Amino acid sequence: MAAQATPRTSLAAHVSVYARCSSCDRETKLDVPALIEAGYGGRSLRNLPLRCSNCGATTYRLTVTPH
Ligand SMILES: [Zn+2]
Repeated sequence: MAAQATPRTSLAAHVSVYARCSSCDRETKLDVPALIEAGYGGRSLRNLPLRCSNCGATTYRLTVTPH
C-alpha cells in the first residue's frame, strides 16, 4: 500500500479497506465514502479516528483489497 493512501485515493483506486483491531483482532470494513463525507478524505489511512466497536481500542492494522 502506498504510504500516502487516503480515503480519497482508496475510493479512486476501487479498493476496499479493512481495519483490524490491534487489541482484539476484530476486523471492520471502512465506510470510505462516509469517511470522505466526514472530512477525512485527505487524511492518511494510518491516522484515522477509528475506535474498535468491540473493545474500544484505537490502534489498528490495515488491509486493502481489490473489490
Ligand atoms: Zn478491539
